[in-house]
Amino acid sequence: MKDKTFPQCPFEPLRHSFLSRDDEFFMKLAYNQALKAWEEGEVPVGAVIEYGGDVVAQAHNMVETLQDPTAHAEILAITQAAKNIGDWRLNGSTLYVTKEPCPMCSGAIVMGRVSRVVFGAPDPKMGFMGGAAKFHEMSGLNHKTIVADLVLKDECVNLIKTYFLLKRKLSNNQTPTEQDDELCS
Ligand SMILES: [Zn+2]
Repeated sequence: MKDKTFPQCPFEPLRHSFLSRDDEFFMKLAYNQALKAWEEGEVPVGAVIEYGGDVVAQAHNMVETLQDPTAHAEILAITQAAKNIGDWRLNGSTLYVTKEPCPMCSGAIVMGRVSRVVFGAPDPKMGFMGGAAKFHEMSGLNHKTIVADLVLKDECVNLIKTYFLLKRKLSNNQTPTEQDDELCS
């Protein structure tokens, strides 16, 4: 749901070549999903799942649209991938996401047996795959997910940072609102 303090997205989709389906190729698709999220009034996070060289899921954050706190890009992508593969076990798949997975998504990634995770922007506060904690390395887990090196870090960090910066700026520069009235009264 768009509000007065929602900034316009200043970024263009990243172009990708279909010739080399490497980590950067899939991350570019995830990045473009994140831009879609921004256009739809969401925090810009996008995710893609690769399985056997194919894209089996593409999703973006939909928390606001669905009014569902679990509608993170990774969760929606995992559900989509399981449906497309016809198996909830996603062994052999790689999940690409523009921002390091939160505690909920890290849990879903391990429970869904995703083999590998690649992300762009590290999240030292809420990231549970290396930032604030390393959930995937907890002893006793019967599925090991490998976390790869960062891919398209600069682009992904810039995207999420710019989003929060513009959003803060807009809410500070608002024309008189009920909030200001409250302050005056
Ligand atoms: Zn999450």
